[in-house]
Amino acid sequence: MSEVPPVPDDPIVEEVRAAVDRLHLGERYRALDRQPEFPRTEFRALGEAHLLGLHTPSRFGGRGLPLPRVAVALFHLAYGGGTTFAKLALQPEFSSVLAEHGSDELVDRWFRPMVRGELLVGNHLTEPGAGSDAAAIATTATVDGDAFLLEGTKSEAAFALDADAAIVFARVARETPDAGITAVLVPQGLPGVDRALGAGDLGERWQRRGSITYHQVRVPRDHCLGAEGSGFDYVRSELTRERALLAAIYLGVARASWDETVRYVGERRAFDRPLATQEGVAFPLVEDGAHLSATWLYVRDTLERLERGESVDGAAALAKWMASEVALRTLDHAIQFHGGRGYSRALPHEQRWRDVRSGPIAHGPSEIMHLVAARRLWRRNPPPGTGTERP
Ligand SMILES: Cc1cc2nc3c(=O)[nH]c(=O)nc-3n(C[C@H](O)[C@H](O)[C@H](O)COP(=O)(O)OP(=O)(O)OC[C@H]3O[C@@H](n4cnc5c(N)ncnc54)[C@H](O)[C@@H]3O)c2cc1C
Repeated sequence: MSEVPPVPDDPIVEEVRAAVDRLHLGERYRALDRQPEFPRTEFRALGEAHLLGLHTPSRFGGRGLPLPRVAVALFHLAYGGGTTFAKLALQPEFSSVLAEHGSDELVDRWFRPMVRGELLVGNHLTEPGAGSDAAAIATTATVDGDAFLLEGTKSEAAFALDADAAIVFARVARETPDAGITAVLVPQGLPGVDRALGAGDLGERWQRRGSITYHQVRVPRDHCLGAEGSGFDYVRSELTRERALLAAIYLGVARASWDETVRYVGERRAFDRPLATQEGVAFPLVEDGAHLSATWLYVRDTLERLERGESVDGAAALAKWMASEVALRTLDHAIQFHGGRGYSRALPHEQRWRDVRSGPIAHGPSEIMHLVAARRLWRRNPPPGTGTERP
């Protein structure tokens, strides 16, 4: 298993490990579960360490690392600091629509400071009536002179109270299902923005999710990101990148528990011999190790292809699905083989499991990931007689 991730001589590994130790990210990860808050101090410190915006082009203040190297960095951040700090490192990536399609003024005001860890931009796509089927959103942006009037409610959003601004997806026109969805940058301090915390989550509590209602919020038209009506196209390509990168995070978290479990079952004795010598313990662990390795190779291959400019929406969707499934199974075995303490808060495995459990839901449920991959498959291999064959 030493080949996971298979580039141990990449200097980013030592850099990330040093940051994890220096900033005590492992300890903070555990503490944030008990006292959920947005970790602004660590976010700022990650910015100062140039660990935010790893893939973000240098012209926007990021590192511009190729995607496979970003995955290595995220894997190690997740290995040492759980999902929390690896996801924070991806936060500028989650806002790439702002960098790529916002005006210079908006990028200077909101995006560059985020890469420095000084402020936070959230994403508001999901609504009470539109999640998996995001094209069904109902929030409207009505043109009123040089402004939009935003009306609608966003739900399930991370950083509901903590984001300084948000990329809000709203409908300008209704002609076709996708048409008219526009991305708008909305400072969260504007009059008419009403934010509320949700009921509290199973894991990743530091994200403090909730809902945001926009009551006739007046947003300057120049806060529109890119072309009106193109918001959905922009977010699709962002989602492909982020799904493949999230997969690296789930694998890093699971690998930490796998390593700890392999060590533990070698030491813990039952029935006069180490647990490791029981096939019922050893076989699931070797399977988990193989699944983690194989999934890592799939994720890396997907990111290499994406870096080369290939279209990998289906593979990225499957990478997220596969990595979250493999990680959850590995974490479940870690809980099981640590026995009673595994089920308790004394050890990190249950927290890691709760955190990774968002994987098959957030950024698109697993069923939708299958749908994306299936569409891709049939687009390449149209069933005869469906009228979808390539000319
Ligand atoms: C930790 C976390 C953070 C999040 N952060 C944000 C955020 O910052 N901003 C934001 O906008 N949203 C955010 N979300 C919301 C997330 O994107 C949605 O929850 C997700 O897209 C699913 O939408 P939904 O909850 O409305 O589920 P629904 O659309 O109601 O679907 C419920 C379930 O039905 C199944 N399902 C749906 N459609 C199909 C289908 N066609 N075939 C088979 N099964 C199907 C799936 O199992 C799905 O999970 C976050 C969610 C989580 C858990």
